[in-house]
Amino acid sequence: MSNTTSDIIVDATPEAKAAFFGELQTYVGLEIGAPTPAPDEINAPMIRHLVEAVGDKNPIYSNADLAKQSIHGGIVAPPTMLQAWVMNGIDGPPRTGDGPYEKMNQLLFSRGFTSVVGTNSEQMYVRYLHPGDQLTMRTVIDSISDEKTTGLGTGHFVSTRQDYYDATNELVGSMLFRIFRFQPKAKAPAAKPKTLRPRPATTHDNQWYFDGLNDGVLYSQACAECGEVRFPTGPMCPTCHSLKWDKVEMSLSGTIHSFVIAHYPQVPSFDYPLPVLLVDIDPPISHSDKPGNNKVRMIMNSADTDLDALVVGARVRIEIRATDPDMKLPFAILDSTSNTGATS
Ligand SMILES: [Zn+2]
Repeated sequence: MSNTTSDIIVDATPEAKAAFFGELQTYVGLEIGAPTPAPDEINAPMIRHLVEAVGDKNPIYSNADLAKQSIHGGIVAPPTMLQAWVMNGIDGPPRTGDGPYEKMNQLLFSRGFTSVVGTNSEQMYVRYLHPGDQLTMRTVIDSISDEKTTGLGTGHFVSTRQDYYDATNELVGSMLFRIFRFQPKAKAPAAKPKTLRPRPATTHDNQWYFDGLNDGVLYSQACAECGEVRFPTGPMCPTCHSLKWDKVEMSLSGTIHSFVIAHYPQVPSFDYPLPVLLVDIDPPISHSDKPGNNKVRMIMNSADTDLDALVVGARVRIEIRATDPDMKLPFAILDSTSNTGATS
């Protein structure tokens, strides 16, 4: 039977749901597969290996002399080893594919309960096991819950019970193993609209710079006394300490001074990998006859650029692009026409 979504049977009415649940319940109590004999009798070497592995130093498991003086009269197996005695090695048990468990699963699959997760296990012990005991395990479907909805999705809890019997067919222990067979929750709707890019912090000292970008002009700041061009913007010339300044229009071109490509952490408003560049902006256009007509260095993202082609020293042109309805920022675009490996 297929379990693709197009084949899912939908029990739309309470009666249909009840009929499905009733059919599921017919599997409760059925034995799964043939009784499984333990490949080895209970034995001291396997017990010793296990208690060494888990660091259990209780002498009743490993010291024959001390165990003999205990109420057990000799070595016993740790009760929690119960399942270990019947394990079938790396290949697991032989599977027939058409037993009650498989049929129950097909019934669950038919309603879309195709996912599975193990939820919990409980063991119950009737008596201690001694070396020489020979176990046989029988497995039954113990219970199937009504429909439940969890954080994973909607489905049914299915408990199987393994009963362990000794050579005289006396029950020595049981294990309940519970799984949740469920229909996974629908995936979250794809591609939420992208959140707006975080805006740079604007202050009295830099608002004019961002106003310039919104007008499509890349400005920097020049000292009105000594002519030094500077960026980022600030109230005082770091060279002559003058508070007088002019804004100067920068060239829309430059050279990559350095760059990183950010992968993590990822902010939802950006595309990744995200190139972040330090660009030496070419000298200002509007200040060319002044002293101190130096380059400034600006940080910006790159756009429309083959990341493998980013190299220090490559020429870029600057484009001023809208990042939201009220904000424009400069982006560096690798200038493929002038990049021949030379630096400026
Ligand atoms: Zn100055």
